[in-house]
Amino acid sequence: MSHAVRLKWLQNSYRAVTLSDSNMKEMAGLLKSGATMLSKSCPECNSPLFQLKSGEIWCANCQRRVVIVPEGEEATAEASLELESLERALVKKISAMEDTLATEDTPAKLKEVAEVLDALLASLERLRRVRKGQP
Ligand SMILES: [Zn+2]
Repeated sequence: MSHAVRLKWLQNSYRAVTLSDSNMKEMAGLLKSGATMLSKSCPECNSPLFQLKSGEIWCANCQRRVVIVPEGEEATAEASLELESLERALVKKISAMEDTLATEDTPAKLKEVAEVLDALLASLERLRRVRKGQP
């Protein structure tokens, strides 16, 4: 087992923090929000990386999320993050369907909503099972 790690960009990184007009302000804001500065630096711009309270690693300069993956395990890490965002999307849809369910009165429509909800929940369950099986 190699302990070598390397920093890698995420293709689907998203903005988790509010933008401010300067990097210093950004970093100060990160620290204030409970993020910690890491000894590692960004693979792209070399500025210090932060670990957010959520556990995510963030470059305040590039405004991007960075993942640290053990050498040779990049594909797995990426796949796992893909599933993570898929799960988020499913949960979002399910709660949207919940709203529809609450406002819908016609039996035919309700049945339709229930069917969709059922399919979404089944997908979510399957997805969670797959994710559990991952390292
Ligand atoms: Zn950077």
